[in-house]
Amino acid sequence: MKIGDRSFRILYIEDNEANMRLVAKLLEHHGMQLIEASTPIKGLQLAESQKPDLILLDIQMPEMSGFEVISKLRAMDATREIPVVGLSANAMRADIEKAHAAGFDAYLSKPLDIDKFYEVLNRVLIRG
Ligand code: MN
Repeated sequence: MKIGDRSFRILYIEDNEANMRLVAKLLEHHGMQLIEASTPIKGLQLAESQKPDLILLDIQMPEMSGFEVISKLRAMDATREIPVVGLSANAMRADIEKAHAAGFDAYLSKPLDIDKFYEVLNRVLIRG
């Protein structure tokens, strides 16, 4: 699967190193650039300064939940329009509805289904 010829810049805000490495491999495979943030604060700073094409956002982090992070992203002019995909082990129907209400463009459950991962990225990036 190809997403045009563009090398998209993707910020991943994730506290789990194993998940970060997996996504790094998946993005590299498609020639996309990964910007890594291991904490929500660093992620918010990088989102504002780097203005990535897409943000992948872990929902469960010790310092701040993904729901708090997205509310801050949506409140800043620099990051308001950036598509955000949530990632969580907790993919119950109620959570998915909550995620859409919070402004997530899509929501993926962990462990990641690789085909679904590419499908969602493709859809969100092409639309964006
Ligand atoms: Mn986490």
